[in-house]
Amino acid sequence: MHGWAAVSYPPNVELDLDGGLEGRDIGAVQRAHDWAKDVVAPMAETWEAERRFATEAFESAGQNRLTGLLVSSEDGGEQVSVVGLARVLEEIAAVDFAVAFSLVCHNNLAGAVARRAEGSLRTKVLPGLVNGSSLGAFLLTEPNVGSDAAAITVSAAQDGEEWVLNGEKAWATNGTDADVLSVYAQTDSSLGHRGIATFLIDANGPGVIKTPGYQMLGGHGLGANSIRFDNCQVPAESLFVPVGEGFRAAMEGIDLARVLVGAMCCGMLRTALTTASDYVRERLAFGGRLADLQGVRFKLADVSTDLEASRLLTYRAARTFQEGRDAAVEAAHAKKFSTRVAESGIASCMQVMGANGARRDHPLPRHLAASRLTHYVDGATEIQDVVISRSLLD
Ligand SMILES: Cc1cc2nc3c(=O)[nH]c(=O)nc-3n(C[C@H](O)[C@H](O)[C@H](O)COP(=O)(O)OP(=O)(O)OC[C@H]3O[C@@H](n4cnc5c(N)ncnc54)[C@H](O)[C@@H]3O)c2cc1C
Repeated sequence: MHGWAAVSYPPNVELDLDGGLEGRDIGAVQRAHDWAKDVVAPMAETWEAERRFATEAFESAGQNRLTGLLVSSEDGGEQVSVVGLARVLEEIAAVDFAVAFSLVCHNNLAGAVARRAEGSLRTKVLPGLVNGSSLGAFLLTEPNVGSDAAAITVSAAQDGEEWVLNGEKAWATNGTDADVLSVYAQTDSSLGHRGIATFLIDANGPGVIKTPGYQMLGGHGLGANSIRFDNCQVPAESLFVPVGEGFRAAMEGIDLARVLVGAMCCGMLRTALTTASDYVRERLAFGGRLADLQGVRFKLADVSTDLEASRLLTYRAARTFQEGRDAAVEAAHAKKFSTRVAESGIASCMQVMGANGARRDHPLPRHLAASRLTHYVDGATEIQDVVISRSLLD
């Protein structure tokens, strides 16, 4: 007996900060909450222990209509609003960040294909992404290129009716199990970022070599790996975003992605606070409950303040997007703050639980590891500072 109640994942459907959730969003948020609790929670530690992609989660995500959240109903999806998507991801990350991040990468690709792809490429790729029968991955980062994304070196050379890709991508979320790869490649290095184009490539086709998933401090369920292209020949129709527009396309979704990371951090921190609060109400020490000690109470009060602030920054940025306004700086503030307080807050929650805080029979150690990863994804913390200081000083 550890003396704490079973971890509960209280839904937060009522959280509609100053409005912003639209009718169709409520159903998606509730569906995501139930799915995460019933399907993801029982398996989350297994994916971590086995250090593998969360296959079982993705297999059922499509049936739960969670794979076409940025695609209109005409194309088989169930488009939610920006605030709605943030809330969906908050619910899933409250249970497991890796699955939430895997799904957001997939959904972003499905949304981009729905917006941009035409003709046979669209017909070939879009239905599978939307119904969840094929898994998508976004390949920008390389072993030697991260923040400075314009400097990518994976090459694409035109050869008659075909393109030939060579080089290596790194940190491909979903990469170990992906079916469709969105690959950013340089067509002419003398052009810098203007030479970048994007290709949609069959991840299981010739010339594509997937390496095993990375061994990380956590987050194995998102299946990150490196993928090599060895004279990978693809037909002309694989050109997804034309030469010159690839870099802009990569950056197009980055601000939204940052807001969504903020929402995922809110989810993890919420679970940490609920779990620690339940624990200290039950655990006895020095003739009373831990919850009666002011030192413990104030620690959790601080976490609660950080969570409130994190939500306000995150959902303010989400609403700005939803209204079609520039949210770059708001997104940078939201991501920087939410990732910071997720890591410190989860650690505080583990601290008030004593040594039991470090055990893996509740999600806090898994969330703590994931909160570290959030500092790198979609622009490292320092890149948020570049955006913020530029808006402040230039
Ligand atoms: C779990 C996970 C999943 C990911 N998934 C994907 C994915 O699906 N697709 C994909 O393409 N990439 C993915 N990434 C890669 C991620 O986008 C990169 O990690 C990120 O862009 C940072 O690059 P880097 O790690 O190479 O760090 P570097 O660019 O090498 O930076 C190293 C350090 O220097 C700092 N730094 C860099 N430039 C500046 C600057 N101008 N001013 C101040 N400090 C600076 C950085 O902030 C960082 O602290 C993923 C990463 C993780 C951890």
